[in-house]
Order: sequence, then C-alpha cells, then structure tokens
Amino acid sequence: RGIIDSFSSILNEESKHDPSVSSSSTSSGSMNGIDGVPVTNERIAYKLKGYFDLAKEEIAKGVRAEEWGLHDDALLHYRNAQRIMNEASSTPSPSYISSSEKEKVRSYREKISNWQNQVSERLQALGKRTGVGVSENKRTVASPSSASVSSTASRYRKTSSQKTPVPRGGIATAKNPKDAAASPKPVKESGNVYDDKLVEMINTTIVDRSPSVKWDDVAGLDGAKQALLEMVILPAKRRDLFTGLRRPARGLLLFGPPGNGKTMLAKAVASESQATFFNVSASSLTSKWVGEAEKLVKTLFQVAISRQPSVIFMDEIDSIMSTRSISENEASRRLKSEFLIQFDGVTSNPDDLVIVIGATNKPQELDDAVLRRLVKRIYVPLPDSNVRKLLFKTKLKCQPHSLSDGDIDKIVKETEGYSGSDLQALCEEAAMMPIRELGADILTIQANKVRPLRYDDFRKSMAVIRPSLSKSKWEELERWNSEFGSN
Ligand code: ATP
Ligand code: MG
Repeated sequence: RGIIDSFSSILNEESKHDPSVSSSSTSSGSMNGIDGVPVTNERIAYKLKGYFDLAKEEIAKGVRAEEWGLHDDALLHYRNAQRIMNEASSTPSPSYISSSEKEKVRSYREKISNWQNQVSERLQALGKRTGVGVSENKRTVASPSSASVSSTASRYRKTSSQKTPVPRGGIATAKNPKDAAASPKPVKESGNVYDDKLVEMINTTIVDRSPSVKWDDVAGLDGAKQALLEMVILPAKRRDLFTGLRRPARGLLLFGPPGNGKTMLAKAVASESQATFFNVSASSLTSKWVGEAEKLVKTLFQVAISRQPSVIFMDEIDSIMSTRSISENEASRRLKSEFLIQFDGVTSNPDDLVIVIGATNKPQELDDAVLRRLVKRIYVPLPDSNVRKLLFKTKLKCQPHSLSDGDIDKIVKETEGYSGSDLQALCEEAAMMPIRELGADILTIQANKVRPLRYDDFRKSMAVIRPSLSKSKWEELERWNSEFGSN
C-alpha cells in the first residue's frame, strides 16, 4: 500500500508537464518518430519524454492493477514499463548538445533511472507473491456475500462430476461444472478463482441499491411492464409459485428507439422487485476492467447466484455483445464467450433465479448466440398519443400553466414521432420561454409572478426541438420487432 502511495505521488508530480518540451499526444509519436532518423540535438529530449510518458502510462496501469489485486496484470504492466525504460536508458545522447538541452536530458534520465529502481522493486515483490502460489489474492470470496458464495461454491464442488484440472493453490478452485459442460474448450484455470477485489467491486459499484425510478413514473409501456412483472417481480416474491412450467424465462431483451424508457424500466424493476440488481454498463466492462472483463463476468454471475433472486441488467448490450467480426479483438471475443457460458450455467440450473435483462437500441447488431438466449424480446416503442398525453399531463403537473385539454390534445397530435426524451426536452424548452421574456427583471421578480406556460410556448419550442429519430431508423426497428420480437 505504502509503495503504491509513493508511486502515486510520483505520478502526480510528473503530470506537471515540462512546457519547454513540446508534449503533443504522448509516446507513440515520439517513439515512432525515431524511424531511423538519427537522434539530433533537438530530438533527444523529445524522444526521452516519449519513453518517459509511455513508461508512466504503464506504471499507472500497473499501480491500478495492483490496487485491484490483479497481480498478474500488474506484473505485465510493470514489465512493459521496465522494457520501455531500458530502451530509454540505452539511447545515447548526441555528441553535441546545447546546455539547456543537456539539462533537460539529464533530468529525464535521472527520473527514468529513479523509476527503474522502483519498478524493479515492485516486480520483485509481486514476483515473490505470485511465484509462491495463488494463496494471497485468490482466496475464496471475502466480502459481504462471502459466506453464501462459498456455499454456492461448495455446492458446485459436491455436484461436480467432471474431472477438471485443479489449479495450484487449492481452495479457490470451485469449478462450476456447468461451465465445463457448456464450454467448447476447457475454461482457463486462472479465470476460475474468485477474486476478492472483483467481488468487492461488484458489491460496491455494480449492485444498484438506490434506484430512484418508481413503477408508476414510467408512462405507458404496459406490455413491457407485464412481462417484467411475470418474469422478475412476481417470481422473486413468490418463488414457490413460479416453478415447473411457470418457471420464468431467464433472458429478456428490451429494445427500441433511444429515449423511450428502456433504462427507466430496468431501474423501476430494481426499485420494485426484491431481487438484487446488478447494473452492468458496457463502459464498466470495457474501460475500468481492461483485460479483466471476462473474469469480472464470471465473478459477477457467481455473486448473482449467491445473492439470488438477482437481475443482471446490461444496458447498451449491443456494444459488448455485437456480432462477432474478423476485426474483433481477442478480449471482447473472450468476454462474449464467457458471458454465454455463464448465462447457460444459470439457465440450466432450475434452482437458480438469475435473470439477465439487456437493453439496446440496435438489436440488429446483437450476436445471434446472445439473442437466442434472450428469449423474451420486448419492444419499447415511441410513445403513442395516449402515452404522450399522459407524459405531458405528468410533466405539467408541477408547473403553472394555462393550457386547456384541447391545447394538450393539439400538442399531442403535433408531437407524433417524438421520443420520451424528446418530449422531456420539449417541455423543458417551453418552460424556459417565460423566463427568457423577463430580461433584466429576472434578478428581482418574485417566483410566483412568472407567467404560466401557454400553448404558444410549446408551439415555438417545437420549432427548436425536433424528433430525434429518423423515419428509416424507426422503420428498421419495427421490422426487426415483427421478425424477432415477442410482442
Ligand atoms: P437509450 O436507448 O438512448 O438508452 P432509453 O430507452 O434507455 O434510451 P431512458 O433513458 O429510459 O431511455 O429515457 C430517457 C428519458 O426520457 C427519461 O429519463 C425520461 O425523462 C424520459 N422518458 C422516456 N420514456 C418515458 C416513459 N415511458 N415515461 C416517462 N418518462 C420517459
Ligand atoms: Mg438507456
């Protein structure tokens, strides 16, 4: 911990850039900029800075990985940093060098050598730790849910009929037999161990405890609400009733044009159901967890099983589970396979109640294998006139206005094609109109003296706020719905 701190302070200090060396975008430019061009007087400091920035980046990643307890990753990054710095220190200075340049070069070399020492220290420390075995960071789970996860683990162990290779380090090898059954190839050993840090993070950052949306806040969408009620809310409350033929489907896809309440619906499920709600966003899988995403997915499902009934909500699921392509990188391919394996695991066990809900506005781009598993696919369309009316009425409730029912009907008619979020924007724009008329008075006027909203405000706003969805996009979604949708 102390070492991490000292590294962090170096990193912070170093982020104050030396203005005299043109910084531009880091590293690769300066590294590649070498391109066989002899190192000249002006370039040496620039070049060292390139190495320096690259190394810094790697060290930062290493430090973060270490903080997360991902020691293998930390090792990898520190080694990269070391390689870069070795290269830097073996770059000779040109024979002629101006004195100001000399000073810069000296300072970079000094910093680099200082870092080299620190990185080797870390490498040594980590090497010792990971060399001895997996005992330190890969115990069975220690977290609020530790007891139950471990019991799930032992359940698996007991039922396991597969002979699977037992990784060194023993205890943490609760291999899910379902993985082995569903997986086309043996699951990598290292991915099979619960990682305290991952579990802890799932419990703190991914489990959504404070969803603010209530069921009734979501206007319309009765079909979607009914499906969610039957699949998630009731089964979580009455598990005894929903067994056998009534066993709910485990995968659900909410799809439809942007801004019509998909995310909102899922949040409402979280607040209304008694299930543990895991809110997994694409960004949390792809950025924060670089290189660890598939391990996270695996741990996520284990935690979900241990805390069931659970809902795993993946917003913008298309961005992680899109059709496989040639250009796809290895990491995202592995992430997808892991997801499918885990998902099959929970669906094949009749005792588990873990439901996966995906949301997307690009269902066409979803991988077929993923789509097949999200058996229930619910279209969340643009609001029809009834829903628009409901939305206007609720939004106008908290705002003084002089609109008659006839006015509202007119607005409803004129906003065909607007999405829920477009309507929200429209109302916000209209509400600003009386304020804009105030001019300088705005600073003195009493709040209750601002004139109420009227029809004209909405009409004017409609010129500014246009429907955000093009007709062709909308038609594409409708077509997809008639081909693949459940309703
Ligand atoms: P995206 O596909 O872009 O993620 P989304 O379908 O998830 O969109 P939400 O984030 O749920 O859309 O909705 C955006 C906003 O639009 C909400 O915060 C809310 O203000 C409004 N809204 C949309 N649909 C409804 C609805 N049915 N009832 C109430 N408000 C709605
Ligand atoms: Mg959304």
